[in-house]
Amino acid sequence: MPADYHTHTPLCHHAVGTPEEYVDSALSAGLTEYGISDHAPVGEAFFDDWRMLYQDLPAYVEWMDRAQTHAAGRLAIRRGLECDWLPGCASWIDRLRNEHSWDYLIGSVHYLGQWDFDNPKWLGRWAESDVDEVWYLYWKEYAAMAESQLFDILGHPDLVKKFCHRPEGDLRRFYEPAIEAIAVSGCAIELNTAGWHKPCAEAYPAPDFLELARAAGIPLVISSDAHAPDEIGRNFDQAIHLAKAAGYTETLLFEKGKRRMELLP
Ligand code: ZN
Ligand code: FE
Ligand code: FE
Ligand code: ZN
Repeated sequence: MPADYHTHTPLCHHAVGTPEEYVDSALSAGLTEYGISDHAPVGEAFFDDWRMLYQDLPAYVEWMDRAQTHAAGRLAIRRGLECDWLPGCASWIDRLRNEHSWDYLIGSVHYLGQWDFDNPKWLGRWAESDVDEVWYLYWKEYAAMAESQLFDILGHPDLVKKFCHRPEGDLRRFYEPAIEAIAVSGCAIELNTAGWHKPCAEAYPAPDFLELARAAGIPLVISSDAHAPDEIGRNFDQAIHLAKAAGYTETLLFEKGKRRMELLP
């Protein structure tokens, strides 16, 4: 099984489990590597209620150390963060990068302006929004995130479809500019299986996006976005099938920023 690099810890206040439980689950899923990438702090002060605080970073390192100790050489543990792409975030991300010896950073677009559009708390806001306009803004930010070169992996590419809000017609008109920016950036994207468990009932990204990404030579990782131990490696068989159908034969491995390819099973 490929590595699973997108997983959370209870420090973000909406995930459960102990490091030992996550490691055991990764071992029984047969993963080659278990990567931890909890929601990173945004600034030193409180930002929102679904991420670790800046003061939690030492506890996060301790959590990763515990995973490493429990794995005891049976499984490679990788250390990362899921960072939010926000306007003007570059100096903060640079600072986070220097806080620890990370293996990789994931960049995610969860915010459009002040709106964390994937948060079920603000579902009502969708009703007042023009879906085409939201999609346009989302993909503009996604491309800008790629161009920033701040991240190693770009998270859940079409998260904006989470609650089934999709413009009419062929969506490749939204994908293409983003694909171009990602291809130039050299960043990897993830095939994130959590989407299968959300209202959209489809992995992130959609098959059309994945095919364009493959054709553009964009490297891939497969990830679960686990917020509980039993979600580690979830739907990886299905994801591997999807990746292969799009033409992928390998996924990317990260160790202290160094990249290696691993053939899909
Ligand atoms: Zn989360
Ligand atoms: Fe996310
Ligand atoms: Fe996540
Ligand atoms: Zn995520």
